[in-house]
Formats: sequence, structure tokens, C-alpha cells
Amino acid sequence: MQDFGENIQQVHNDKLGRHLVAGMNIEPGDTLLEERPLLVTPHWECGQLKCAQCFQESYVICRRCQVYPLCMDCSQHDDFECDFFASGAGKGLCKDILVKNYGICGLLKLLLLLEDPATRPDCATLVETPVNLDDYRDGDGMWQEHEEQVVRPLMASGLVEVLSSQQLTCDSLHAHCIRIDSNAFEVTARDGDTLKGVFVCGASLPHNCVPNTVVALDEQFNMKLYAAVPLQTGDIIYNSYTNPLMGTSQRQHQLRLSRRLDCSCSRCLDPTEMGTHMSSMKCRECPQGYAVCEMDPDGRPGDWRCLECKASMSAANVHELLAEVGGALVEARGDLQVYESLLTQYKSMVHPNHFLLLDIKQNIASILRAAALMNSMEQPCKKLLARRVELCSDLLPICRAVVPGISKLYAIGLFEYLLALIELVELQFAESDLNKKEYGAQLRTASLVGKKAMDLLRFEPENSAEGYLSDRISMELERIESDLNKYGG
Ligand SMILES: [Zn+2]
Ligand SMILES: [Zn+2]
Ligand SMILES: [Zn+2]
Ligand SMILES: [Zn+2]
Repeated sequence: MQDFGENIQQVHNDKLGRHLVAGMNIEPGDTLLEERPLLVTPHWECGQLKCAQCFQESYVICRRCQVYPLCMDCSQHDDFECDFFASGAGKGLCKDILVKNYGICGLLKLLLLLEDPATRPDCATLVETPVNLDDYRDGDGMWQEHEEQVVRPLMASGLVEVLSSQQLTCDSLHAHCIRIDSNAFEVTARDGDTLKGVFVCGASLPHNCVPNTVVALDEQFNMKLYAAVPLQTGDIIYNSYTNPLMGTSQRQHQLRLSRRLDCSCSRCLDPTEMGTHMSSMKCRECPQGYAVCEMDPDGRPGDWRCLECKASMSAANVHELLAEVGGALVEARGDLQVYESLLTQYKSMVHPNHFLLLDIKQNIASILRAAALMNSMEQPCKKLLARRVELCSDLLPICRAVVPGISKLYAIGLFEYLLALIELVELQFAESDLNKKEYGAQLRTASLVGKKAMDLLRFEPENSAEGYLSDRISMELERIESDLNKYGG
């Protein structure tokens, strides 16, 4: 399933359990781990049947087993799965078992991998991971979702009796669902839909909000993990399972929900979040100061204190404000004007880099981008294009700061900025707001931005979303080059 590079070693300690460390000094971009997914499956709640072979939309059912959906291009799927229902132990089960309860798809796959002696060893690491069910029972919606979509239909299907050697119970099925979820990465099918890919090794790397690796996933759902920064011998190999554009309180909340994890990485312990101030509040007592969350000696968040005048702000106050903005964001429902007024309203209360402002800015930028794509922008067009350039450029330093080294986040930020800038300056030149010389200078800036983005994507597989993004950027660069030849002198 997985292939370690020669440059890393597997070690064990009490805090992290089994984990990987650099076995020598490693350069950014060097491959550390390659892994094929144990299984790929639609999300539990996926309503659209997918081909069992290629994951395209399905319109037919396998003629042999009469259980698995297939597409027009595929006539067969996994032999063991097909045989199991066509002539094996599952022959007597209702043929609608999967089609009627499509949510069971992922777990059914795992159960049949466990049933097949040839693939059972591949699942060992996954199914041996202990799961404390009491952490999940009666928790958020996840338990309920598993119960309704997966566990109940499977228990009623008769499959559990057929797979009697696995001694399946409601609890053991729940534990499998949780193992699948916590070892899954979002992978993208060729039609753009997202699926879950379960990677036993890649998903078991310890978490750090400032990861030292990059995860690349190609169209065949193969994972490649490569170094984002130089690694020294003995450095622990980290992955990140959270969104770096979230503030510390948000990230920690998400990590607790999805992985039962309390992160105490360098970013989580730094109240300024690596100098970005992504969670800092504007002080209410002095004009220049920003208040940051003070940690107690155990690293637990306490009240907030201004870095300038030392005035304090109660944590309850901060949470109230954040909840208010969060609610207003949900209410905004994609309305450009509402987002702009929220931005004006909250700018005076938080740091300019605050994650909530970033969230609002990203929303505005994506609305403007979609509008530009559909050519539905009302006049004055240039004003909105200029706004998009401004927003994209605001996001860049933060994207750069939160993921050091080789960063897909920063590359994508640069690409968005490039597109916005090119559209604006082309229009400005066409309408004679820019002369040839000014246009040339802007194109040269754009070209540098594009090259920087390409450089960050150079270790991504060709047949991946990021690989195609590279192709796209190189097309833009060619266009810029030819315009520069024409006008740039
Ligand atoms: Zn297919
Ligand atoms: Zn079949
Ligand atoms: Zn952290
Ligand atoms: Zn102050």
C-alpha cells in the first residue's frame, strides 16, 4: 500500500506512538511517502450512485452481481466484490442492498476487504486503531449520521450474519465508520466531484498547524507526500488536518470535532499566530494596540490583553463578537453588498488580518470572480475588477505566512491574484487608462507572479488538479509574453 522513501524512518515514542522522522537531511520537494488508498468511496450522504469501477455517475447495474452500480464505460468492477454477491456468501442477500442504502458503500467496501484473505492484511493497521466510542456517542451529528446512513441499514440487510466471522455489532460498525472518516482525505474524481480516499499511513501522521510536508493527490487517487521545507535528521514528519486560514480557536474546535485532538503546535501556542495577528482584536482602550489571547501555563486560553497598553478584554466579550460575526456571515447568503458592509462594520473591531475579515474577503473575491466569468458584471466594471485585485493582494501575505516553504495555498493565492490583475490591466489598457509603458510594467509584475506560482507547484503530479493549474498558468504566461513583445518594448 505504502512506500517510504529511503530518507525517512519509522520510530516510536509514548507521546506520538508510531511515527516517521527524517533519516537524513532532506530538501524541499523531496518525496517522503507514496501511498495508494486502501479504499475510495463517495461521502456517506452522497445521493448520486457512482460507478464502482471509475466513480463516474452510474446509470446501469452490474449484470453479474446485480448489486453494484456501473457506468456506460465500465462493464466490470472488483472481482471479489462481484463474486461475493454473484456466487459467494452474499448471493442470497437482497439485490437492492447497495442501491437502496447507498450510504453503506464505504463501509461495505471495508468489510469486503476484510473478508478477502488477499486484502485483509492491508486493513490491519486501520482496524487495529482503537476508537473510544464514548467520545462520539451522543456527540455532534456525526454519530447520528453514521447510525442512520450506514449502521442501521447494514444491520437490517442480513450482511452481518453472512460475514459472521467478523463478529460485527452496531458498535464495531460505528468504530469502522469513525476509522474511515478519520483516515480520509478529500480526493477529486475526474468529473470534479469530491470523494473520500482512505490513506492509512498518510492520515496517521501527527498533526501540526504548520506542517513541514505537502500532500499531493493525483487523478488515480495516489498520494505523494513531499517536504515543504528543509528537514534535518530526526525531524518529525507532520501533516496538517485543518484549514490554515482559520484562527486558532476555530482550528482547535475543528480538530477536536474531527480528530479528538488538542493541538499545541508552535502556531497554537503563539497568540500572534506567527506574527499574522489572525485572531487579534483591536484594543478598546488605546488607538494603536491589539489585544491577544493570553495562555495559562498549560496552554489553555484565558482572557485577552492589549500588547500596547496592557488593558484586558474578557474572553466572553471576544466570543460574543465572533459569534455575532459568524451569524451575520451565514445570514449574508452570497450577497456582495452585505459582505462589503460587514467588512466595513467589523474592520474597526479586529486586526486587519483577522480570520473573519479574511473569510469575508474570500467570499467577496469569489463572487467577483464568478461574476467576471459569467460576464455579468454591471458597470462600472473596472471598479469591481480593481476591488478584486485589492482583495487578492490582501490575502497573499497571510497565505505566505501561515504555510512556510512550498505552499499550494500560496500558489493558488498567487494564481487568483494573477487572473484578477491581468483582467484589470487589459481593460485599463484597452480603455487607454494605461499607456504602453505602464501596461508593460504591469505585465512584467503579472509575469513574476505567475512564475512564482509555477515554481511552488513544480513538485505536483502532472495528472492532478494542481498539475492542470500549472498548465493554466503557463498559458497565461505565454499570453503575457506575447503581449509584452507587442507592447512592452
Ligand atoms: Zn465506470
Ligand atoms: Zn458485479
Ligand atoms: Zn496547532
Ligand atoms: Zn491598548
